[in-house]
Amino acid sequence: MTMIIGWMLWPKLLILMAKNVAIIGGGIAGLTAAYYLKKSGITPTVFEASSQLGGVIQSDTIDGFTIENGPNTLLLSDQRTVEMFDDLGLQFEDASPNSKNRYVVKDKQLVAVPMSIKSFITTSLFSWTSKFKIITEAFRQNKPLGDEESVSQFIIRRFGKEVLVYAVNPFIAGTYAGDPDSLSIEHSFPLLENTERVYGSVIGGFFKNRKKQNPHKIKRRTISFPKGVAELTHALSNYLSDSTHLNTTISDISKTDNSFTLTNTQNGKMESSSFDEIICTVPTYSLKNITINGEDYPDFDELGEINYPPVISISLGYKKEHIPHSLEGFGALVPKCENMNILGVLFSSSLFNNRAPKDHSLLTVFIGGSRQPELTVLSEIERVQLAKEDLETLLGISTEPAFMHQTLWKKAIPQYHVGYGHYKSIMNMIEAKLRGFHFAGNYVNGISIQDTILSSMNLVNELNRHSSTCSE
Ligand SMILES: Cc1cc2nc3c(=O)[nH]c(=O)nc-3n(C[C@H](O)[C@H](O)[C@H](O)COP(=O)(O)OP(=O)(O)OC[C@H]3O[C@@H](n4cnc5c(N)ncnc54)[C@H](O)[C@@H]3O)c2cc1C
Repeated sequence: MTMIIGWMLWPKLLILMAKNVAIIGGGIAGLTAAYYLKKSGITPTVFEASSQLGGVIQSDTIDGFTIENGPNTLLLSDQRTVEMFDDLGLQFEDASPNSKNRYVVKDKQLVAVPMSIKSFITTSLFSWTSKFKIITEAFRQNKPLGDEESVSQFIIRRFGKEVLVYAVNPFIAGTYAGDPDSLSIEHSFPLLENTERVYGSVIGGFFKNRKKQNPHKIKRRTISFPKGVAELTHALSNYLSDSTHLNTTISDISKTDNSFTLTNTQNGKMESSSFDEIICTVPTYSLKNITINGEDYPDFDELGEINYPPVISISLGYKKEHIPHSLEGFGALVPKCENMNILGVLFSSSLFNNRAPKDHSLLTVFIGGSRQPELTVLSEIERVQLAKEDLETLLGISTEPAFMHQTLWKKAIPQYHVGYGHYKSIMNMIEAKLRGFHFAGNYVNGISIQDTILSSMNLVNELNRHSSTCSE
């Protein structure tokens, strides 16, 4: 009799056992995983080493300027992200219609990125040879050479060198702060690589793909929130308030047959607690500070080799009358061949409302990245000087800024270099060895905020599916 009751209780027990989940790291990956766990009835525990949640997402309002230290915009293309925002009671703000005007620097001048067939034909960004190559891309069947290609190799093969130099190189600098010569097309832009593989061309495949139904896909929108991107992580923090531990650094993960013991240091005090599942979202360079069963873990050390170049984000406020340019647009990106100091500049107060006090404009400039990491070791004054030189050349600004704020990210964004598959295999191997341990975060399925949100959401769905399969 006892045995029968015990047997009948077994499925329920399994579900209960899976309810104790620890999340290491309180950036958007960890907070999103916690959000979806809580929605599915599981109480998560989030451990965050720093004094605030949100990770690299940090917005601030200083002297009337609403600035972003990390990400400035969110590209929304999936209905599930919108549903999460609605559920959190967030009101997002679309970037101004002018934001479709994007610029690339050519010969030290801002040149509009063509957004229509007419502007494509007349643009001075590309020569007629390149325009012909772009138009005829769908009819070219030149296959990859066999090895994993870099973004540069892929783009040159499909579209020619000029498209790499004046479109892709600045785009990669503005998104990855990276170098297209070393990023892997397969791992950084899997959709592009896959489209070519399936349809034989990127442009032809893009049109065919558009007809395919993706039930979650929505029209792409560039958005933020009235008080900046961090409104998102603040809303998540409020929703999870009873489940988060700040100033709490995880230093050891010990595995027994069925559970994990996490050791953390909080305000100099060591504590341990047990969990059934772990979701690890800490940047890979932080993994080397976490031991497994009290010992250094070589697989963590190897993941620590993933490159995160340094980036500086500088917010500069000017009186409107001191900026000769209209700033009607998203901003400008700088190709490497232009030999300038900055990677790009965002017209932040043109993008969203209320980013600067009346009669002022806010610009956000990026310096460093894989292209010029050496610039990030300069003094704050020297970096601003470099930014000001470029803003004078590009926008004609010759006065001192009325407002200045800068943030140094010593390790900004993980680079999915050629050979990244090796690191993916190590992640899979760790998950197989430490059953119940899972990776999430911007080094798993894409670096953008939305990619990171969807990756955590998919992981939680997978865990829920697994625990309900076990309980049947
Ligand atoms: C300057 C910059 C600009 C960007 N711009 C954009 C943009 O415009 N749009 C966009 O979509 N994306 C942008 N990104 C990328 C995007 O913001 C990030 O990829 C994403 O926010 C990363 O989230 P995450 O949770 O994976 O990592 P993180 O935000 O790095 O969070 C990881 C957390 O783990 C914590 N942690 C570390 N070690 C431990 C430990 N041992 N114990 C407990 N906690 C620990 C850290 O303190 C941190 O809070 C930008 C990134 C940067 C740096």
